[in-house]
Amino acid sequence: MALFQISEPGLSAAPHEHRLAVGIDLGTTNSLVASVISGSAEVILDEAGNAILPSVVHYTESGDVRVGAKALEEASLDAKNTVSSAKRLIGRTMKDLGNVEHVAYELVDDPQMVRIKTRAGDVSPVEVSAEILKTLAKRASDRLGGDLTGAVITVPAYFDDAQRQATKDAARLANLSVLRLLNEPTAAALAYGLDNEAEGVYLVYDLGGGTFDVSLLKLTQGVFEVLATGGNSALGGDDFDRVLFQAVCQSAGIPAASLSAAESRRLLSAARSTKEALTEADTAELAFTLDNGQAMAVALSRTDFNALTAGLVNETLQAVKETLREANLTPNDVKGVVMVGGATRMPCVREAVAALFGREPLTGIDPDRVVAMGAAMQANKLAGNTTGDDDWLLLDVTPLSLGLETMGGLVEKVIPRNSAIPIARAQDFTTFKDGQTAMAIHVLQGERELVDACRSLARFELRGIPPMAAGAARIRVTFQVDADGLLSVSAREMKTGVEASIQVKPSYGLTDEDIVKMLQDGNAGAEADMHARELREQQVEAQRLLESTHSALEADGDLLDAEERQAVDALVNALATAAEGDDVATIKAAIDALAKGTDTLAERRMDRSIREALAGMNIDDATFDRTEEEARKIDDHLNGVK
Ligand code: ADP
Ligand code: MG
Repeated sequence: MALFQISEPGLSAAPHEHRLAVGIDLGTTNSLVASVISGSAEVILDEAGNAILPSVVHYTESGDVRVGAKALEEASLDAKNTVSSAKRLIGRTMKDLGNVEHVAYELVDDPQMVRIKTRAGDVSPVEVSAEILKTLAKRASDRLGGDLTGAVITVPAYFDDAQRQATKDAARLANLSVLRLLNEPTAAALAYGLDNEAEGVYLVYDLGGGTFDVSLLKLTQGVFEVLATGGNSALGGDDFDRVLFQAVCQSAGIPAASLSAAESRRLLSAARSTKEALTEADTAELAFTLDNGQAMAVALSRTDFNALTAGLVNETLQAVKETLREANLTPNDVKGVVMVGGATRMPCVREAVAALFGREPLTGIDPDRVVAMGAAMQANKLAGNTTGDDDWLLLDVTPLSLGLETMGGLVEKVIPRNSAIPIARAQDFTTFKDGQTAMAIHVLQGERELVDACRSLARFELRGIPPMAAGAARIRVTFQVDADGLLSVSAREMKTGVEASIQVKPSYGLTDEDIVKMLQDGNAGAEADMHARELREQQVEAQRLLESTHSALEADGDLLDAEERQAVDALVNALATAAEGDDVATIKAAIDALAKGTDTLAERRMDRSIREALAGMNIDDATFDRTEEEARKIDDHLNGVK
């Protein structure tokens, strides 16, 4: 019988296809992409095994665009055509930026957004960011082996509308569908699973390459709210490199101003390596060569380094205190501190933060990766890959269920109410009648079981379904609600690929009161609905059985003698009468009786169909390796009676 249900043939319980969704940390200095693979968030590496993609784009002489480490190599050689830190410019005009930007490339003013003068023309920070996103998306789809459904992209908590919109535009330009923009500190908190922890205030301390961000998050019922943000957009790990650089010049007696550009570059890069080495080791040597070939080496201890950089660390602590003050909080009010950004690896930073809060900050997850990992977890949820419905982060949600009409005026819910959007769900439906070539899709909104009690949103038709036995066609109907609440519904016949679709704005015209009323009605009507649903289901089943019996009698009625035929006709009439009434039990009984009463006919039809299938065949040829298609045809044929 299962084959004849018009509504999804038992597919709802089966896990739907895993959708490839990624989280992207689009950083000022470095960017990363991560995805939930076999249940856990993992950063995706490039072919060479690198997790980090330097956020640098180089426009080459030959017209190519290079991204990442390859572009970074060019940064010093061809600085004018190499764009780094585009994130500082995105969604900003010259006026927003003021005069503080010291960049090695040339900026062009534009009332919309600053542009960068390169040999490839004046490029916008949106285009630069798109190149970075494209590179990461390609890395991910290569590795995951398929097209990406969408991405969650992180932005600083303080990003305004223009900066957020520009980031979305960059994604669009990279042909990437944005499931959501997520605040970087929130992503880090999610990666640590803080959404499952005690409610309260958490502080995220993010020290990157060139920026320092402090965010205070308040967790209530699994939702993070940004209480306050602070920090210093001109302070980061790179400043620690500069302090070392200065110290080495001083101790070597070389005025920094006397160094050539190449010497400065080499010394700065040596300083960075030494800084990073001192995170692991107590001592390290800073070695570099002057243009005249003279090799220099300065030995440094971690204690020296800490002393040199204490001022910078203290600056970050001042910013933390300032942010707390703004929110009227003290370090004691903070439940946990999350460390983010490569520069928080430095022991001096960790120690200082621990001392301020009187507790160890959270450092268990790689601080470079934590934001991308949290974003990946969110992307995985938004793509609908999680099974439990209760672990949804309540963000933007669908206020009412969305579904479609099935036989008998019933509503099959496809997206339940309170699902976080954006969301996509698919369900398979099948045809009701033999040879049915079109299907009417009626999209509804509401909690009730019956079409009349729900709100009709749209109707469309899928035509061109190849004629098949009832129940043989597979029509996949996909509901998709984007972040703006825009619903699109598409129906596709799986064998031929014929498709039809429609777009609706589901909440359009509904006030909050309407929604509340529809929800109340839904609750009150639940019991009545259940009875009505049961009745309709039985009526549909009766109709279905009458139809298939009719077509079986038409095709193979000669298999019954007059007496047998009379008995079947009587059962048919009994069922037809019962189906017009509203007694579920009577209809059920009549269905069972007719189903039983046609057993003999079913058996004889089976014999006949096998005989026909074998007719003209040498018995040796009649091996039973039918193609799947043939096997299904025979099943369908037999099922036409059962
Ligand atoms: P952003 O968020 O700005 O893109 P990141 O979070 O990637 O930047 O941080 C980059 C900074 O982290 C650089 O200044 C880098 O030198 C620093 N960093 C990375 N690893 C270490 C380490 N092991 N010890 C100290 N600093 C480090
Ligand atoms: Mg960062």
